[in-house]
Amino acid sequence: MKAVYLKGIKRLVSEEIPIPEPGDNEVLIQVKCVGVCGSDIHYWEHGRIGNFVVNSPLILGHEVAGKIVSMGNQVKITSLKPGDRVIIEPGVPCGHCNHCLKGRYNLCQSIQFFATPPVDGAFREYVSINCSKVFKIADDLPMEVATLAEPLAVAIHAIKRSHIELGERVVIFGAGVVGLSVMLALQEAGLKKITVIDPKKERLSLSQKFGAQLVATSLDFVSNDSLYDIAFECSGSPSALISASKLVTPGGQIVQLGLSGNSTQEVPIVQLITKEINVISVFRYAHVFPTALEILTGRKEQFKEMITHKYSLEDIEDGFRMAKMSPDAIKVVIDVN
Ligand SMILES: [Zn+2]
Ligand SMILES: [Zn+2]
Repeated sequence: MKAVYLKGIKRLVSEEIPIPEPGDNEVLIQVKCVGVCGSDIHYWEHGRIGNFVVNSPLILGHEVAGKIVSMGNQVKITSLKPGDRVIIEPGVPCGHCNHCLKGRYNLCQSIQFFATPPVDGAFREYVSINCSKVFKIADDLPMEVATLAEPLAVAIHAIKRSHIELGERVVIFGAGVVGLSVMLALQEAGLKKITVIDPKKERLSLSQKFGAQLVATSLDFVSNDSLYDIAFECSGSPSALISASKLVTPGGQIVQLGLSGNSTQEVPIVQLITKEINVISVFRYAHVFPTALEILTGRKEQFKEMITHKYSLEDIEDGFRMAKMSPDAIKVVIDVN
């Protein structure tokens, strides 16, 4: 089968490797579509994200939809069978450490997470993964849209970790897939007073179309007397936390999802303390894929609009460049099979 390896800065190389044998509890999946994530772009451009460093060739990609080919002989999940259209949750935790036992398996230090060195990801024709991480999708959910369950899972986990209440005023930094997913998931929960800020004007049209009350390219366009109860920082821009601390009301909260890729960044500590703002950090997700699939299926037309570009596995490098460069690129999906 074909697999695309990151072999150096901005160097993706296609290689022929054997199709994996599924383990006893694993499912072998023919990969159909894989979304290009901000983290994939970051590894491609810099070879690292904070302490995660690519030291040897690595297959990127963790937003996966495909079809079951075969299953290991210990797979007991009767709802899965060969031919099923599925998505995967791309991380397998150890299952017995303290974090796993507390249900916070996203914090498991032994988790095998796709496309995080040294664990290979999914820009390849077949993957195998533990059957507990495989979720069947509706027949009418397009494969490329199904890949968005993964970034939506991040958004849902963020909302669950916040202490948001109905009627609160929300500001979202970053109008990419995660920011838009936060907005749609909040709407699903009945929250309507949402402002979206993104310096790239082209990307804001979708936020507007999806019902944002206000969209803005910078803080200057947001009136200072309309402070927000909660900010979701989805941009990863180092300055966004500072902006968020200005826009959030005393006693409010900032939910930090964006990762700039730097190990450290400036923190507006005086604003945070004197306003008693709670900063809530969010890393990946735990136990949210079924909810993500439900919201995704119900709003598939909206999520479909986030997919702005599609490339074949052969043209993956063009896809990465597009995702990096184009101001209107929201989600680039690689069509693998
Ligand atoms: Zn992702
Ligand atoms: Zn664990």
